[in-house]
Amino acid sequence: MKLPPAPAMQGITQLSPSVYEVLLRCRARGAWAAHGDRTALPLLPQALLGTAFHATMEAANKGAFASLDSDAQLVEARRTFDDCACRLFVRAHPLLRAKFSAAEKLPYYNLYRERAALEAQQYAGLQQPPERGELAAIKGERSDAELRLVSADGLIGGRPDLIDYAAEELVDYKTGPAPADALAEVSDTEVRQLTLYAHLAHENGIRIERGVIARANGVRSVIAISREDATREAHRARAVLADYNSRATEAFESAAQPSTTACRFCPCTSFCESFWRSARPEWADDCGIHVEGVTRQIERASIQGVELTTIRLNVTRGTVAAGDAHVEQIPDAWIQADGSGPLQNGDTVRIVYARIASESPSRVFRVDRVATSIWTL
Ligand code: SF4
Repeated sequence: MKLPPAPAMQGITQLSPSVYEVLLRCRARGAWAAHGDRTALPLLPQALLGTAFHATMEAANKGAFASLDSDAQLVEARRTFDDCACRLFVRAHPLLRAKFSAAEKLPYYNLYRERAALEAQQYAGLQQPPERGELAAIKGERSDAELRLVSADGLIGGRPDLIDYAAEELVDYKTGPAPADALAEVSDTEVRQLTLYAHLAHENGIRIERGVIARANGVRSVIAISREDATREAHRARAVLADYNSRATEAFESAAQPSTTACRFCPCTSFCESFWRSARPEWADDCGIHVEGVTRQIERASIQGVELTTIRLNVTRGTVAAGDAHVEQIPDAWIQADGSGPLQNGDTVRIVYARIASESPSRVFRVDRVATSIWTL
């Protein structure tokens, strides 16, 4: 596949809590989060399933299943999940579709689907199908899902997953892993996001006392949010936004702030020159295995009807040491997913999220069906 170019930087007129969080780590990653072309890169399967999970919860919180009995709620919630996952899959990057034949073949599909259905059933019975209308009218309801809130100055905006007016709570659903620190029920990132949503709620006349992280495994963690903390976080967010916008004319490469913290799970890794200039083998534990090199030898084989390419590489950069290495058994369908031709000797390639198969006597990398992508420069 041909490596997409780094995007042009652009100013951000309105900062969302999720883009704020990314900007705290890297301005270039923040630019991608705000303006990047999502179709240029393959989604990870869990990101697609997470979106389907959120869509199911949104439907439940908007009262779509409220009039059904509990068995029918489960059935409808599963159908909502399937419809959303299917829609996303049809439009997904061709690499994801080259790796998996259908949405329901994605790893953990049924697990995400059942968790979404059970969570949706739990919330469905609590909701009344709401009358949509002006905010003042909505505040008379018990709760509201995905309500768009904007600060008085227009600089901060976002949609909390659920506002429970009666409980004075904001709820944010998380399908990803819990914080690495087992003692922290809510990560610093999650606290900042909830606190900024609370500020948006206050600025729209909605009283919020608590934020709730609702994980897909059923665990709920609650934090108290004071009005002072919310105002302080919003101050910081406005300062971060102003700093970003004051430099928004710089190139993506000079805006990039590579580090093991910033680059961990960054979707821009493949095309971010600053990452490749800075990455070291010591980064592998935090950021994964990323390899750039020049192909010196290419072998092709067909195993059980699958066309595979093995390459010998002169590794030049990445989170692995420079030198000789093989990358074994890459499906041709992955290399050519975007319509590119086969790899050629002398091509410079980047293999993002590879796996180490062996270190000696020779170094061998393998590709991973969930996360690996292969790009030519
Ligand atoms: S790879 Fe690292 S430096 Fe590049 S945009 Fe992402 S976080 Fe920033």
